[in-house]
Amino acid sequence: CGIVGYIGYREAYPIVLKGLQRLEYRGYDSAGIALYDDKELKVSKTKGKVVDLKEKLESEISTTGTLGMGHTRWATHGVPNDVNSHPHLSNSGNLVIVHNGIIENYESLKKELTSRGYTFHSDTDTEVLVNLIEDVIKKENVKLGKAVQIALNQTVGAYAIAVFDKTKPNEIVVARLGSPLAIGVGNEEYFIASDASPFIEFTNNAIYLEDGEMAVVRRNKGVKVRKIKDDSLVDPYIQELQL
Ligand code: GLU
Repeated sequence: CGIVGYIGYREAYPIVLKGLQRLEYRGYDSAGIALYDDKELKVSKTKGKVVDLKEKLESEISTTGTLGMGHTRWATHGVPNDVNSHPHLSNSGNLVIVHNGIIENYESLKKELTSRGYTFHSDTDTEVLVNLIEDVIKKENVKLGKAVQIALNQTVGAYAIAVFDKTKPNEIVVARLGSPLAIGVGNEEYFIASDASPFIEFTNNAIYLEDGEMAVVRRNKGVKVRKIKDDSLVDPYIQELQL
């Protein structure tokens, strides 16, 4: 399973698609991509291989956009099918998430959210997490980064996640606990991936998140890393990759 993301000035689609292909060795049963192009959010996903996704996506949506996220899924909660594939959206349709790992307490969180009117379209634990984040934004009136942090502190499990809000398309929030996540730091552009292979041709500066860390990655504005548990700021180590 794998995660790829891009925020910057280039077209995201070719970077995300090629990135997913480079992460295929990690194993998966489904794949999906979300793109945002200043006007609309577009999502395409399918059970099967990245080549199947490419064919479906290009017949379904336009591939424009300088913000994009892709996912290869290794199903843990819900069978491998198109609906359970990632990315998943929140009920408002504003938040988009990709997730590798398991949210172990998703059932109790789902019950709670359902009792407050949330509906679920997939059988995944991931769709519960994205709605939990949305619920925090609404209840606590906080920004996406803070909401992700509060939500993750209510979860038990393992994850690498990337989330964005289509109404604030200048940032991607990422977090890791138990699944790898790297951020490629370019010049006014940033890459996100499960390992550096999707972005090695664009930048050799990488931040490898440690377990329990999250980052807000802002277009043109850099990366802020914090500890999920206590909110303390982390001075990230930018590793120079050998090309
Ligand atoms: N638990 C999530 C799901 O089943 C993510 C699986 C993965 O790691 O790809 O959809």
